[in-house]
Amino acid sequence: MSDNPNFNKVKNDLVVSMVYELRVNNEMIDSCDDTDPLQFIQGQGHIIPGLEQALEGMAVGESKHVLVNAADGYGEFDPDQIVEMSKSEFPDDFTLQPDMEVTFEDEDGTELTAFVEEVTLETVTFNFNHPLAGNDLEFNVRITGLREATEEELEHGHVHLDGHDHDID
Ligand code: ZN
Repeated sequence: MSDNPNFNKVKNDLVVSMVYELRVNNEMIDSCDDTDPLQFIQGQGHIIPGLEQALEGMAVGESKHVLVNAADGYGEFDPDQIVEMSKSEFPDDFTLQPDMEVTFEDEDGTELTAFVEEVTLETVTFNFNHPLAGNDLEFNVRITGLREATEEELEHGHVHLDGHDHDID
């Protein structure tokens, strides 16, 4: 496959295998290595836009240091996404603690994730921003594999690992 120039470089609709380290303010907050590379279909928005753009054209084995500003990463911090609610809106036996992750459903049935910021006697404050919103991201990435996505993978919009088929979604 590596002899075929069409699969030599990262481009849309190729399945990319990649290892990475993610640092925020010089602190490593996420990583994966060769035993468990991240796999995704390039061009489908599976990874943050700033990183996806930087990968375009990279070859297998190539490494890159990528800086992604907040706007091209998990977005700027939005104060409107801090929402205070009355505790009475939750069941009595529902324990709400700071840093707890809570999933809400909006009118369309879309799941929204929030983290509890603050709990008082009467109220609970949720933060609907992504935990990394407002942060510039520093990636070290290395491409470990490239292959053409199957028709089924493109249709489903995700990678089928190890060639296994599945019936769900
Ligand atoms: Zn599928």
